[in-house]
Amino acid sequence: MKIISSPQEMTEYSKEMLSQSKTISFVPTMGALHKGHLSLVDEARKHADIVVMSIFVNPTQFGPNEDFAKYPRQLQADIEKIEGWVDVLFAPAQEDMYFPDASTLISENLISKDLCGKSRPKHFAGVCTIVCKLLNIVKPNFAIFGQKDAQQVSVIKRMVRDLFIDTKIIAAPLIRDTDGMATSSRNSYLSDPQRRESLLISQALNEAKDFVDNGCTNVDRITALITNKLDRSSNIRIIYVSIVDSENSMPVDTIISGQTRICIAVWLDTIRLIDNILV
Ligand code: AMP
Repeated sequence: MKIISSPQEMTEYSKEMLSQSKTISFVPTMGALHKGHLSLVDEARKHADIVVMSIFVNPTQFGPNEDFAKYPRQLQADIEKIEGWVDVLFAPAQEDMYFPDASTLISENLISKDLCGKSRPKHFAGVCTIVCKLLNIVKPNFAIFGQKDAQQVSVIKRMVRDLFIDTKIIAAPLIRDTDGMATSSRNSYLSDPQRRESLLISQALNEAKDFVDNGCTNVDRITALITNKLDRSSNIRIIYVSIVDSENSMPVDTIISGQTRICIAVWLDTIRLIDNILV
């Protein structure tokens, strides 16, 4: 695996490959890799000759009181996980991605406003800005994003469409551990008892899906079902339970089977967790 840290070198590499008619799939991550990330690599491999992964903990998508400083950084362990699977790892330094006097931000102003955008008002502008930079640097034909962050997929697709960015965005399925928990780098923050309590989230989503499979299309009933389930834990505080259309992640009034996603964000003590299910 080739490891590149300079944005200029990354661009030169991509231009060279594209000039040889090779195609590039790109998997952007913040590292602390787990099987969710690795599934994106598998998806990337299906579409192109070369798989590029980036690892960059992006400061601009964290709010002032969020976990940027303590976010898990384990580059060496990550390299061992992807050696032989990924062709190029792009792992730039913060100062190479943000000029000291950088004065440009990219913001999507509709889809970003609801769900996570309500409690993390600058988050998606940070995401759009870094993803736009990365796509400009790597110049991939395809970029793979996980449905774990379903709203993020919708926001990125909208940005890429609106800005005529020449990359096809591919959404890959959400990966879970055997106990049902959606895999996440932030799961490493959970103690064993917290992990057990957090299972209520995926259980609530599965129960909601069963209700929908049995014919319930009522948004309020499904929301109440989930809220009641999560309220069983005194350590869980709901940030939102939102029922959205699966393409744009915008709230809907009624559930349409196969086109609706139920999205949850909670605080478990001081740990912010999100999960969702397509129903
Ligand atoms: P992150 O490193 O958390 O920024 O995530 C990088 C990419 O991996 C994003 O596209 C995420 O949606 C995706 N991802 C993270 N966790 C999962 C998961 N459990 N299943 C599928 N994709 C995931």
